[in-house]
Order: sequence, then C-alpha cells, then structure tokens
Amino acid sequence: MLDKKIITIAIDGPAAAGKSTVAKLVAKALNITYIDTGAMYRAFTWYALEKNVDCKNEEECLKLIPEIKIELKPNNIVLCNGLDVTRQIREPRVSSQVSYIASYKDIRLFLVEQQRKMAQKNSVVMDGRDIGTYVLPDADVKIFQIASVETRAVRRYDENVSKGIPCTLEEIENDVRSRDYIDSHRDFAPLKAAPDSVLLDTSYLTIEESVDKVLQIIEKKTGVTIDA
Ligand code: C5P
Repeated sequence: MLDKKIITIAIDGPAAAGKSTVAKLVAKALNITYIDTGAMYRAFTWYALEKNVDCKNEEECLKLIPEIKIELKPNNIVLCNGLDVTRQIREPRVSSQVSYIASYKDIRLFLVEQQRKMAQKNSVVMDGRDIGTYVLPDADVKIFQIASVETRAVRRYDENVSKGIPCTLEEIENDVRSRDYIDSHRDFAPLKAAPDSVLLDTSYLTIEESVDKVLQIIEKKTGVTIDA
C-alpha cells in the first residue's frame, strides 16, 4: 500500500477512453483520492447553460467565474453552488458545449488552481486532458489512455443508457470526435500526451485488464508494492 509518501497519478486521454472508470478503480485499489477534472469543466458548462449564457461567447462565460463554486465530494458527487449536479453534467447538452468552456484560459486557470490544491496534501489519481502536461507536470506516474473512436463511442453509449441518459450512438460518436478536435487544438493546455507518459491502448482490454496494467505501471514507476 501507499503509506507516508504522497503519490500523484495522472491519467489523460481523449473523450470516453474509459479514463474515469479505470482511475476510480485504481484509486480504490490504492486507497487514495480520485479527482475527475472533467466533472469540473462540465459543472461550469451546466451553470452557463442554466444562466442562458452562450458557451461560445468567451467574454460572457468569463463573467461567471466569480459567482461559481464547484465542489467534488465523496462518491463522485459534484456540487455547483451547493446544488447536486452529478447527473445533469453528463447530459448530451453539456457534453456538446463543454469543450468551448474548457478552451478559455481564464476558466482553466480558475479550475486548475483548485485541482492543484487537491493534489497538494493527498495522494491522488487525477484524470483529464492536461494533467500530465500542465496541472501536475511532476506527477509520479503519467498514463495516456486511448481507444479507437468506435470503441469509445459504444462504451459511452452503453454507459449513458445504463444511467438513463437519452442519446443515440451517432450523436455520441459525433460528440466524441468534435470534443477531441476542440480539446487537442486549443491554444492553452491542449489534450496531448506528456513526453514521459506511458501509452495505454484499451481498445481490446477489459476494465479489469486495463486497471491491472495501470497498477503494474504504478508499481514499476514508483517501486511500491500493491497488494490489491
Ligand atoms: O473527462 P470528460 O470527458 O468528462 O471531460 C469533459 C470535457 O472537459 C473534455 O471534453 C474537455 O473539453 C474538458 N476537460 C479539459 N481538461 C481536463 C478535463 C476535461 O479540457 N483536464
């Protein structure tokens, strides 16, 4: 187990690559905190939509910063100004707009500050797009998790169906492609693999196999023995 030393694990990759599923299980195996940074950008987007702010209008979106408080609670509960938005932030209307919100530098700086604070005192597994490159450049372990776009779309579709979130496979595939494009082409902290990250292609791996691979990488990189 991971006692004493603070350890940071960054898992980045494109949309719906299964990062959060793997990250949650890895955090559980190590008994450390999981931080879903995407949920923070989603909560911001949900708030902008609630306020009828056009997510493509940077100036209007930036005005929301002082009035928004996003909290990640145990059991992956997400609060926005005290309101539980855990389910709402997964809706397609949020997914289709979140990459615009995430492309604004000032919004990123606002959320990154909170993400770094969360990793200061505790061992964490943090997933996102820029964790290994920007948020935690000194992370002990960096994984860049990928899967084919078709695999990712099917996985996200199944996940949404199981959560009762209405969507079509075509809609999900378009969303995944569009978010990947915007996320990897923005100027500030775009989606990209850190040079010192380990590439993990989960296209043909089960969740258990993916988690095992990540735990093996962590053991190798940090020298800790994991008896999960
Ligand atoms: O991880 P998830 O797919 O829920 O993230 C939603 C969106 O939030 C991403 O498509 C991306 O636009 C943005 N994001 C980001 N940087 C992060 C995490 C998420 O830009 N670290």
